[in-house]
Amino acid sequence: MTNEEQTKLVQKESKRLWKSRGFKWIIIVTIILLAGIVFSHVRYQARLIICRINLEYGIGSSMNIYMSDYDDQLPLPGKWNDLLIEYYDVSESVFQCPGSQSEGKMSDYSINKHLYEVGLWKGDCVGLFESKPGWNQIGDVEIFTTCNHRNNGGCYNKSSFSGVQFVEQENVNGIKWKPEE
Ligand SMILES: [Zn+2]
Repeated sequence: MTNEEQTKLVQKESKRLWKSRGFKWIIIVTIILLAGIVFSHVRYQARLIICRINLEYGIGSSMNIYMSDYDDQLPLPGKWNDLLIEYYDVSESVFQCPGSQSEGKMSDYSINKHLYEVGLWKGDCVGLFESKPGWNQIGDVEIFTTCNHRNNGGCYNKSSFSGVQFVEQENVNGIKWKPEE
């Protein structure tokens, strides 16, 4: 068989393969699966970014302003969500993590209850964190959740050098919860 004949045979075989329904479907399904993986990754990253913005710039910044207006006092535990909405026009949507399934007037973030024991927010300690849904909720590691971002949960400490960090469930105990430690 000459080279020319071989080339023709390969071309013919390729055409036959392409014309066969099964081969077309394999390509179409592969493209759909790849697009799904890329889309899911983009969506995952977008949710992390929005959650980070909620924690640091939405709630964190308004809490900082509140505290500078009220002699460094934390927003009252029984009404902190309401206070931030009332005084600083914070949108309710800022209290919702895009990865959460919570519905209605819910906050997917809580204030670290240990801050209230010492009465201030020390920069190297968690101030805000991703929690089970609630409203005006304070708490600690017990309500911390990593369910919204594939085994990752966000926490915010106000010092600018660490900002928001996302930690995996297995590293939750490595977070500094108590200011006096
Ligand atoms: Zn989140």
